[in-house]
Parts: sequence; C-alpha cells; structure tokens
Amino acid sequence: MNAQPIDQAAAALPPETKASIYEGSKAGHEKRTKVLFDHYGDPDRLRALAGEIKQHVVENLDTYLPAVEAKLAANGAQVHWASTAEEACEAVHAILRARGAKRIVKSKTMVSEEIELGEYLERHGIEALETDLGEFIVQLGHDRPSHIIKPIIHKNRRQIAELFEKAGLGPYDEEPGMITQRARQFMRHKYLEADAGLTGANFVVAESGRIVVVTNEGNARFCLAATRCHIVLVGIEKIIPRDRDLALFLNLIARSGTAQQLSVYNEFIAGPRAPGQPDGPDEMHVVFVDNGRSDILATGSRAILRCIRCGACQNVCPVYRQASGHAYRSVYAGPIGSVISPLLGGHKDRLREMADLPRASTLCGACHEVCPVDIPIEELLVRLRDGARQAGARSPATPPMTGWSFVAAWPEAWRAALVAGRWVDALPRWLMPGPLEAWKRERELPPWRGGAFRRWLQKRGAPLGR
Ligand code: SF4
Repeated sequence: MNAQPIDQAAAALPPETKASIYEGSKAGHEKRTKVLFDHYGDPDRLRALAGEIKQHVVENLDTYLPAVEAKLAANGAQVHWASTAEEACEAVHAILRARGAKRIVKSKTMVSEEIELGEYLERHGIEALETDLGEFIVQLGHDRPSHIIKPIIHKNRRQIAELFEKAGLGPYDEEPGMITQRARQFMRHKYLEADAGLTGANFVVAESGRIVVVTNEGNARFCLAATRCHIVLVGIEKIIPRDRDLALFLNLIARSGTAQQLSVYNEFIAGPRAPGQPDGPDEMHVVFVDNGRSDILATGSRAILRCIRCGACQNVCPVYRQASGHAYRSVYAGPIGSVISPLLGGHKDRLREMADLPRASTLCGACHEVCPVDIPIEELLVRLRDGARQAGARSPATPPMTGWSFVAAWPEAWRAALVAGRWVDALPRWLMPGPLEAWKRERELPPWRGGAFRRWLQKRGAPLGR
C-alpha cells in the first residue's frame, strides 16, 4: 500500500493513470446525473428519505442487530460476530477449516478488502479467487482496488491485455470482449472446484433476514451455484429495516453507482438450501464485522455509517480525480475514504496518521449533493480535521491562518494583499517565507489573478463596499 501522504502520491502519478481516472470518474458522474434526473422529478427527496432510513438504523443498531441475528438463525444461517479485522479473518478461516476447504471463490466484498482476508487465507494455504472481473484483474496484478465500483479505474485496456498475456491467459488482445472471455474461461472450472463461496452483502433486511447481493456480472450467483457452503462477510451497518425499503435502495444504488435503472443481478438469499429445494449451499454463515464501526457510532461522525458504497462521491470529487484511489492508503478512497478510513480499525493513532485525508478536500460539497443517502460529507470532513488537530496531527504544509484572518477582515489590507500577491507569486521559491514555500511546493496554483473579481463587479456597477 502506498504510504505517501496524499499530495505526494498525487504528484507522483503517471499521466496515463491520471487520464484513466479522470475520464472514468467524469463519465460515471455524468451518466449518473442524466439517468437519475431523467427518471425522477425530484431525486433529492429520494436521497433524503434513504438517508433518514439509514440514519434510523444507525441510531438503533443495538435493537436491529439482535433482531437480524434471530431472523437469520430462524432461516437456518449461522451468525458469527467479529470485533476486529483479525477476528473476522479467523472466523472465516475457522468455517473453512471445519470443512477442510482449500479453495474458495469470492464475489466482490469491500469488507474482505478492508480486513485483508485474501492475504490472510493465502498465508493459511487457502486459495481465494476473486470472480468480479475488476477484482480478478487486481488480484492477477498484485494490485489494490482504486474505486469502490470500478476497482481498476486506474488501468486502461492496453495495460490489462499486457497483464493477461504475462499471466498466461492468452496472447495480447486489448479488445474488451476478448478480455472478458479469457477471464470467464479461466474462472469457469474454478467455480466447480471451489469448496465454498464467499460474498458480501449490499443489504441485510431486518424484517426477513434476507441477504441482498447486487452484481452486474452474475458472479455472486456462480459462487453459490456449485459450492456447498456460503459465507457472507458484512459490516454491521448494512441493515435496512424492511423488504419494501429495497424498492428505494435498489433503485438508488444502481443509478448512483453505475447509472443503471437496476443492477443486472439482484440476489435475495433467505438462508441455505431448504429440504426439498433442488440446489444451493447446504450451509450458510453470516459474519458480521465491526472493526471500529461501534467506535464511529459513539462519535459525531456516525452519519458516515449510512454509506451504501455506491462510489458516486468518488466520481464527482475533484481531489479523487487528481489523486487516484491508491493515494488514500486504504480500500475506501475519495470523500467516503477521507471520512471512514481514519476512523475504521479502532486504533487511536489512526486519525493522526491519516490526518492528511480529511484535509484533502476543497469542501465544495459535491460529494454530499450526489450521495444517495444524503451524508453531509463536507461537515464530517471539517469535524475530522478538528479531531485530528486535537489528536496532535500537524500539517507542515499549512500556513498559519492568523495573517489570513487579519487580511480578510480589513478591506484596505485585502486590497494591498491583492497587489502584493502578484509580486509574491512571481518570487522564486527560495525567496519565499518558509511556511509559504512549503505550502506552494506541494500545489500547482493557477496564474495569479488577484483583483479580477472586483474588476468584474466594478464593470457591472456593483457596490464594492469600502
Ligand atoms: S458516501 Fe454516499 S456517495 Fe459516497 S460511496 Fe457512500 S453512499 Fe455512495
């Protein structure tokens, strides 16, 4: 994992990678906006409603979790609880060990990336094959996902074709259909050989104990078709109250994530194979992962637990588009990552170590505007900046604000600063005062245009005050 602060990681990005991320995220955002506003007169009302439902769950997890456990048990599933990433890995390993399992097939789950389950199982001699195409490419290249929905947004098809050739999946061919076909050929027999299938869950319905898994490739279905054991790995916050709420959430997640009316495959799983049913796994285990979520509940940032992992905030974020997902040093990148990554894991030093993430935002609020569960991300970022400061984090590249507040409060000083700024901008770096030089070293600023706005206003005869 990239250990550089986000500014440095962004500056070191190859132009080809930057271009892939910029184009991919911009296209995703534009399609999402069109679809949502074409289909709904007032999507913001839906976002507000979804936000209220998820906030209600977050505020009442203490009653929802036992209720869900009881429903799942009544449906024939075995429920496991894991407080930490290690406990979650151990719980999955224990289930597999009891069955003598050596190979599993995995559908995409962000929690498994969060707890680094793949690496854990590999160390314990268990092969865990990713079956989502993007995640498969990540695994093949010993890479890390850089987007929630599009894990290989940082790669272009030439790079993928080269990777497939190197991995022995066939001669170089960058045609997307051929890339998909080669991955499919590789995976098909793996599904049949697997001892267990592992999926995440987009939603867990409290009322019915249904596990809902959304994909566009049908790979989750394949993971369950031939295996006898199904393991669900899910964060404790993924609960929604009723089956009828799915009408809202399935519509919002598909449009926000991939600009579809509905994802192609929506699995509703209500327990293992019942007597008389012709197929399906005989055993079903649901592992609920905390890994710091309870600690978040106790903070003013608990609204972040509403997140349904759609990736819309990543697509719209100007910082994510410049920095790429890897720069966030966590499986969750972009605005969602800047809030949740410093809080997850339950380590008290984590916020201080990741203090650059909440600062890596213009606070423009675009992430809030697109979020299908209406999370006030910019407010949480400000809150975290303060928390990081209180935890002892310092930004060596932040100039003192006392001077700024003086200039901003005095019109005469402001006007003088507009003139002086032109000269400071033209100074060579070695002549700049220390803090200003450090701050400017890590930023590319547009040419100085101090006063242009006032001149524009003056031309229109607007009063400018003193
Ligand atoms: S914070 Fe909102 S927009 Fe971002 S991934 Fe989560 S649900 Fe989607």
